[in-house]
Amino acid sequence: MDRCILVRYGEVFLKKGNRPKFLKSLRINLQQSLDLQTAPGRFRVHGFHGRYEVTAREPDLTSAAWARALEAVATTFGIVSASPALKVLPEYDRIEQVAFDLATEEIEKRSVAHFKVEASRADKRFPMTSPEIGRRVGARIHLHHKLPARMTAPELTVGIEIYPDCAYVHAASVRGPGGLPVGSSGRAVLLLSGGIDSPVAGWMMAKRGCRLTAVHFHSYPYTSKRSQEKVQALLERLVAFCGPVRLLTIPLSPIQEFLRDRVPPDLLVLFYRRSMVRLAGRVAQREKAGALVTGESLGQVASQTTANIAVIEDASPLPVFRPLIGLDKVEAVDLARKIGTYDISIEPHDDCCSLFLPHHPETRGNVEVVRRMEGELAELSALEETALAAAEESWPGTPPERIPVRRG
Ligand code: ATP
Ligand code: MG
Repeated sequence: MDRCILVRYGEVFLKKGNRPKFLKSLRINLQQSLDLQTAPGRFRVHGFHGRYEVTAREPDLTSAAWARALEAVATTFGIVSASPALKVLPEYDRIEQVAFDLATEEIEKRSVAHFKVEASRADKRFPMTSPEIGRRVGARIHLHHKLPARMTAPELTVGIEIYPDCAYVHAASVRGPGGLPVGSSGRAVLLLSGGIDSPVAGWMMAKRGCRLTAVHFHSYPYTSKRSQEKVQALLERLVAFCGPVRLLTIPLSPIQEFLRDRVPPDLLVLFYRRSMVRLAGRVAQREKAGALVTGESLGQVASQTTANIAVIEDASPLPVFRPLIGLDKVEAVDLARKIGTYDISIEPHDDCCSLFLPHHPETRGNVEVVRRMEGELAELSALEETALAAAEESWPGTPPERIPVRRG
């Protein structure tokens, strides 16, 4: 009898023509999550009858090690659900005993009011039908535990899956995050501040298959190193979902000092943001990324009105994905809590964008006006070039041996 985790995927099935490619990247990502979140090489993933099976390479792993593996599976985008399972020979008596023991373990662990046994047979030569198996195993659990069976929404489902050379038995499952395998939608550059919204935005786009590169702008020495430390901590949390993420930390203060003396204060933030998206666009070009990602949400602050978003977007060479655009702050906060970034985001830090800013910034910027003024700032592009050259690279939360080698 071997322990394993049965892993089910969902939406990848919809992509008919690309299915093999999707499934391959899902398997690679799953292996990577397991390697990063447990120990490299401890678990192995293989494709199996329309799902994956995760097995251990080492004998006698502890329950804690299996629990960590289950967590790694449950944070991999593309996964719909997973069940810790026992793999046994496809013999009825053996299957019944294991199913009974697993059900008993669950019933003793948590209070269960009703249950169901769900059997399926991929091997039709097995001498009993699925309903027969369900009835017999169900009767034993019912008689022993005095537990009623219920076919709809039972609190415990005992699953039995029979194949020609083995059978799987499970009695619990966890939900995966759904979505598409990271990388299947190409790469995007995430503008990551230390706030609540941008990590959530990164998570949402990774969920739709974007592999991320992160860019953080800081105004050191005007602001403390705190925002940089927060961004590192946020990415350490995000890599569990997104895989390794290259972070580029770019100094913005020379550009901000230059703009402060030349631009009306109420337009300053729009100029900062245009420089940011241009620089992120340059990073995207180097990284072969096809889009930028921000945590903007319509109307949340002055720089996020429709008019100002248009002024900022005008400077971007690439589409800008704003997955939070229609969310309320409470909805973004709920997501931040769910993915574990909220507690890091709410630690105090000074925001680079508030440097030199007035209390009442413009809310209705005009693209033509801003473009014209920017066109007169001949030194701006050289300053942006210098900022880019000063970018510092790191891979928060990724052990050195797992940092991807840059190609080309
Ligand atoms: P967040 O909570 O993500 O900081 P916010 O509500 O504070 O968002 P803004 O400060 O207006 O909103 O920033 C809007 C978006 O611009 C952010 O979500 C982020 O994508 C980007 N951004 C802002 N500041 C920075 C920064 N210092 N470095 C990188 N990107 C930034
Ligand atoms: Mg912010």
